[in-house]
Amino acid sequence: AWQRVKRRLRAELGEDVFASWFARLELQEVAGGVARLTVPTRFLKSWIESHYLDRVLANFRSEADGIESIEVGVRGPMAQPRAPVAIAKPAASLRPPAASSLVAEAHEPERAGRGEAAGDLSGAPLDARLTFESFVVGRSNALAHAAAERVAGHEGSTPLYNPLYFHAGVGLGKTHLLHAIGHAAKGHGRRVIYLTADRFMYGFVNALKTQNALAFKERLRAIDVLILDDVQFIQGRSIQAEFGHTLNALIDAGRQVVAAADRPPTELESLDERVRSRLAGGLVVEIGTLDEALRATILHSRLEAVRATHPAFEVSPAVAEYVAKAITANGRDLEGAVNRLLAHATLTGAPVTLETAETAIRDLVKNREPKRVKIEDIQKLVASRYNVSRSDILSERRTAAVVKPRQIAMYLSKVLTLRSLPEIGRRFGGRDHTTVLHAVRKIEKAIGEDAALSDEVELLKRMLQD
Ligand code: ADP
Ligand code: MG
Repeated sequence: AWQRVKRRLRAELGEDVFASWFARLELQEVAGGVARLTVPTRFLKSWIESHYLDRVLANFRSEADGIESIEVGVRGPMAQPRAPVAIAKPAASLRPPAASSLVAEAHEPERAGRGEAAGDLSGAPLDARLTFESFVVGRSNALAHAAAERVAGHEGSTPLYNPLYFHAGVGLGKTHLLHAIGHAAKGHGRRVIYLTADRFMYGFVNALKTQNALAFKERLRAIDVLILDDVQFIQGRSIQAEFGHTLNALIDAGRQVVAAADRPPTELESLDERVRSRLAGGLVVEIGTLDEALRATILHSRLEAVRATHPAFEVSPAVAEYVAKAITANGRDLEGAVNRLLAHATLTGAPVTLETAETAIRDLVKNREPKRVKIEDIQKLVASRYNVSRSDILSERRTAAVVKPRQIAMYLSKVLTLRSLPEIGRRFGGRDHTTVLHAVRKIEKAIGEDAALSDEVELLKRMLQD
């Protein structure tokens, strides 16, 4: 029966996911309704427990009668040949680390060939455009900029502020400043590693898979400056513990740590209290929203940059002023606006007028109509995020692994679309509107009580509306 359970898991989850998490899962015994499974590492244990327990149980139940529950244990050290560390992930990705994408991506280095990727922690290259020279300083980011320059240029052996921690909403220049620090510190001959939270996690997961966690840690600690972006995405118990150790080791050794996140350290719920206070123990700087003057300057410099490659591209002062006034949200949208105008000008060959500018950037303008979200897209996204299939969500199955994502998907359908409850019920496999109402209330309540769920739902909303 165990072989059949494994086959089912492989078929359901796909080869990649299966190989990452289940290939080394073994059945130890079945006794008193409990199936005892083992894996070689604590990390695998906690990962399987937090992501796949229901699914493993469900499959077990359909293959063997009388199984009530599942336990996952860690078996003794295995005599395995050491493989070189494979850490680099080929393409940069700013996607939030959905469990499924982590699994898929964590697999890539093996395909990429172990030899060349071995130990290449500098795999996250710095973007040549994101420098101090191209960073526009204004009221809202002056402090962050000053701290960044001081840290990057600091020669002494003890860091001035450690860690230096930036927080701000999306598109306000955190990543830009981090890259700028990286370039400048490298220019001073210092060994720099820039990692996003995703990469830190991939690196660590891979090191565990290849039984090379120690080498990974040592490599990470043999540097002068560690730059960590999007720290809010670090999750998973053993990963965040590892993150804490790395942080402590570097700071205690007098190495500079620079970090950025979308919120202050105290609000990083997924991190342990001690890690949060360590992050808060240096200098914490918030970057504020871009005021109009700053937006105008950023826009101007982006237009200049584009003109270097497209000399014919002209944007009148009136149009530039309109764009800087209209796009209030963030630097990313400003960049998007410039690209739209450029595309328009290139495709039509006509000069950019106020009117065409207005049309081109309409959807970037604040107070825009919220993008219409489709129920089908909600179902697909939620399914992939929770490692179930869309048909599971539409099915009658009532295991916890399916019920929760189904209820979240119903809730999102209610708040993000204009559909009525009966209509939503119909689109969820022909359910009654009271079922939908129940799901909506349940998730509303749960969100009020559970900060992690609240964040998760918020993230899903943003992904759907983006
Ligand atoms: P974050 O990491 O905070 O989400 P980014 O650093 O990715 O934001 O910034 C988004 C875009 O806006 C980038 O193209 C960046 O170069 C630009 N940008 C943001 N702030 C500034 C600034 N002060 N000067 C120049 N460009 C900026
Ligand atoms: Mg960023």
